[in-house]
Amino acid sequence: MKKYNFNAGPSMLPREVIENTAKQCLDFNGSGLSLMEISHRAKDFQPVVDEAVALVKELLQIPEGYSVIFLGGGASLEFCMVPYNFLLTKAAYLNTGTWAKKAMKEAKLFGEVVEVASSADAGYTFIPKGWECPTDVDYLHITTNNTIYGTEIRTDLDVPVRLIGDMSSDIMSRPVDVSKYDCIYAGAQKNLSMAGVTIVIVKDDKLGKAPRPIPTMLDYRTHVDKGSMFNTPPVVPIYSMLENLRWIKRNGGVEAMEKLAKQRAEIVYGEIDRNKLFRGTVAEEDRSLMNICFVMNDEYKELEKPFFDFATERGMVGIKGHRSVGGFRASCYNAQTIEGVNALVQAMKDFEKQQ
Ligand SMILES: *Cc1c(COP(=O)(O)O)cnc(C)c1O
Repeated sequence: MKKYNFNAGPSMLPREVIENTAKQCLDFNGSGLSLMEISHRAKDFQPVVDEAVALVKELLQIPEGYSVIFLGGGASLEFCMVPYNFLLTKAAYLNTGTWAKKAMKEAKLFGEVVEVASSADAGYTFIPKGWECPTDVDYLHITTNNTIYGTEIRTDLDVPVRLIGDMSSDIMSRPVDVSKYDCIYAGAQKNLSMAGVTIVIVKDDKLGKAPRPIPTMLDYRTHVDKGSMFNTPPVVPIYSMLENLRWIKRNGGVEAMEKLAKQRAEIVYGEIDRNKLFRGTVAEEDRSLMNICFVMNDEYKELEKPFFDFATERGMVGIKGHRSVGGFRASCYNAQTIEGVNALVQAMKDFEKQQ
């Protein structure tokens, strides 16, 4: 049976990205060696890093003065590297969910942290609005897509300070005005690659200003200066990211990805709103295009498990909601197809008819 992958992360990748990466794992560029067993300093691997950097810059139209680096440690390590490198005395954080809260916790180790707004009391069901950002902070940190709760900030905020964005689960899903950010980071396993690499975009002239010694590995300058080759980088995840960046470019770039994301979201949210069994969990204007969260309506609560089983039998994978929200979450990253969301919607319709 055909499987439709709605996993939240690690998550679906285009089939050709997986196939091309698999081929290189068997025989890298006809060398007779696997991608897994070559040196990261082999002459054939440098072009992989160079092309991946160039494609990230091209696809996101990154202005001059920024570096793109590939690190290990996941987005979670960036929660501490960001303040280590960018927090001089005081930083602002917008608390929109679990990941934002974790980022804030690390920042408190390095200086004063202002929570500009929070939707924690409402179970993170919306993106706070109408708050003011203090002007005496080094940056405002935002989580552009809240993977767990299914809310998203789909514009680059207008605030009087520099932005830092955790874009782990929506990078490359829309155009971004990078010039507003001092740093953008994203763990690759949601929308870019397999797990193991984190992409970090940093504004060069903001580095080296922090009033503290920084351990070598946690200093962005180390990795910028060495072109992500200070130590052994995650070779295979970087390669599969390259394949995915090529795929995004071939398929029309981030504008095309955004258009597709809107189409998919319209199909799924449209059915959630129409179907009497289900309801969405977050404020309509903040609905994520990437992680679509929904639950059974109160009068149908007992049908949660039966619907899960019904959808699973029809090939849906990974639609169980995060334990802190319950219900269902259909993750629709770049690789998700219209066919996939239509299959989910058909299951929702057919299940409703059975009731
Ligand atoms: C998954 C996720 C993280 C954590 O990523 P790791 O790579 O597992 O450390 C951080 N932020 C967001 C928005 C995420 O979705």
